[in-house]
Amino acid sequence: MAPAGGGAAAGHGAAGRYRGAVPLALSAPTQSRTMILDVVRASRTISRVELATATGLTQATVSTVVRRLIDEGLVVEVGRGASTGGKPRTLLAIEPTARYALGVQLGTDGTTFVLADLGGAIVSRWRRGALVGTDPGHAVGTIAAEVDGIVERSGIDRRRLTGLGVVAPGPLQAATRIVLAQPPMTAWVDFPVRERLEAATRLPVLLDNDATATAAGLYWADGIAPTTTLAALFMGQGVGAGLLTGGRVFRGASGNAGEVGHVTVDLDGPVCWCGNRGCVEALAGPAAVVERARAAGVDLGDDDRPVLAAFGALARLALAGDRVALDLVEDSARYLAVAAHTLVNVVDPDLLVLTGPAFAVAGPLYLPVVAQHVAEHRFARGSGPVQVRLSTHGPESAALGAATLVLQAELAPRGAEAPLT
Ligand SMILES: [Zn+2]
Repeated sequence: MAPAGGGAAAGHGAAGRYRGAVPLALSAPTQSRTMILDVVRASRTISRVELATATGLTQATVSTVVRRLIDEGLVVEVGRGASTGGKPRTLLAIEPTARYALGVQLGTDGTTFVLADLGGAIVSRWRRGALVGTDPGHAVGTIAAEVDGIVERSGIDRRRLTGLGVVAPGPLQAATRIVLAQPPMTAWVDFPVRERLEAATRLPVLLDNDATATAAGLYWADGIAPTTTLAALFMGQGVGAGLLTGGRVFRGASGNAGEVGHVTVDLDGPVCWCGNRGCVEALAGPAAVVERARAAGVDLGDDDRPVLAAFGALARLALAGDRVALDLVEDSARYLAVAAHTLVNVVDPDLLVLTGPAFAVAGPLYLPVVAQHVAEHRFARGSGPVQVRLSTHGPESAALGAATLVLQAELAPRGAEAPLT
């Protein structure tokens, strides 16, 4: 069912705006605007003088950009900070209600929906059954109906809803379709998911990899500084990673960067669903661990229980001290630590965050193993520590990231036309 009214997206003529990735080479004015928005959001409140210092822009440029952002309603003045000798400085903040975006994570264990505001806060979250095992055409209709429902329930002005981000496990092609999938998602391969969703929701739709999106979500919602190089190690049913530097996700040439779950760690290991042998995911991802636990006689509920639910049950047993469960999870953690170590050596981040629904329950068991391994084995270990921590948005990190990518794409390229003086 399509929503009534064209909304803000139609006003921008924006359906199809996300053909391809967000432009990497932004013009100088757009860079200034994006940089200022990022720093204001990360700082919560900040003065114009502090903005100039933090961004390296001149005070004149900061003043011009901020004036435009205030005129557009994206930034507001929220009071005065402490005086440093002169008159107290006016503080700026993001106006969170200026824009909203929806994020949807298509998971094998369920579908997570998030409505996020411009500040990166989750206004509403909800889950429903998995749609990936259903006919994709039916799923598109269901998502469109959910979008209508949340707009109605939340009471937000539809003109402020910038778009819909949808994330799925990779690999994807050109942000339009899924090119390879494991059961039960195989029916989605080559289905024109973005095109159909844009038609059904009359919103711009962005399709991206779930792990990639988590990096953007963390950046947006957790106040991470724009100078941070971030690696997000994501574990849902699969294992992947999202990478972010300079405030922007790194997608690679085809949008599939960061697939650290498909690094071979055993040349003679089991065949992975991706077609290769001995991948981290095949040896130590939730599906492999659950299968091993069942073979060892651990009671994880019905055999047809979704993998992540069974994995959560195993993690809870391990956290309660069950020796068999603990050994299985710790064995998995050793492999995930190798994946993290690989990621850190390749990307050289300041910050490594463990995120995704599997880490939401089992994270406390994985964190110390991963952190210790990275600290001891990282190639650049003499150059200072990498901060390793758990995400606070584990279950909905990918859906939040999907919404974030929409907000980021909405704000980055526009306003670039007029040169700043
Ligand atoms: Zn693989």
